[in-house]
Amino acid sequence: TSIPARVPGRTRLGVMGGTFDPIHHGHLVAASEVAGEFDLDEVVFVPTGHPWQKAESSVSPAEHRYLMTVIATASNPRFTVSRVDIERKGPTFTVDTLRDLKRLRPEADLFFITGADVMAEILTWKGAEELWELAHFVGVTRPGHHLAAPVGSSGVTLLEVPAMAISSTDCRTRVAAHKPVWYLVPDGVVQYIAKYGLYLDGSEKGAPGH
Ligand code: ATP
Ligand code: MG
Repeated sequence: TSIPARVPGRTRLGVMGGTFDPIHHGHLVAASEVAGEFDLDEVVFVPTGHPWQKAESSVSPAEHRYLMTVIATASNPRFTVSRVDIERKGPTFTVDTLRDLKRLRPEADLFFITGADVMAEILTWKGAEELWELAHFVGVTRPGHHLAAPVGSSGVTLLEVPAMAISSTDCRTRVAAHKPVWYLVPDGVVQYIAKYGLYLDGSEKGAPGH
């Protein structure tokens, strides 16, 4: 595991992509831990538009996912949220995310953060060969998944992070079953889910302004 050295005048920008349906403390701990270990100046959370792996109907409206991500990250001065994937038409591919961020942030070196489950799938992604040139990849441990660098990848670092056995799927299932999600997701996200009736099986209310 080697960590690229800081280049004077360059911003070290972490990129945390995800569906964030909802964002939970597993995402936040992973981002915080990588930021610390890699001396990142900022981590930008990028909620997906339509994830190409997930059926469109099964994912909450992007505006809800975006706002929950803003609420969850607002208190951290180094965390930001980007709308690039939400605003791009069509399914979200990480190669497009990284190209867009490079164009918007030419001063930044990108560090793309993924959990072990996502790391295992990267070679099946569109533009997989190009990914390693666009960003340094950081794979983090996730309970229940084996972490390994993809075959033929370069510029990948594996990092052990505090084990958070939390998934968005489990959070959604809990809400639908009227079980608590307190302490699995940030307090403001618990309240946002209740306010808009998210995850109560198709009964969610539109995001503000919609
Ligand atoms: P879902 O169950 O809907 O797939 P999820 O919990 O896997 O949700 P995603 O939005 O799919 O969350 O994940 C975004 C990124 O965060 C992925 O790279 C994923 O591997 C990583 N991640 C999610 N949960 C954890 C966790 N508990 N620990 C470490 N990494 C995580
Ligand atoms: Mg997932």
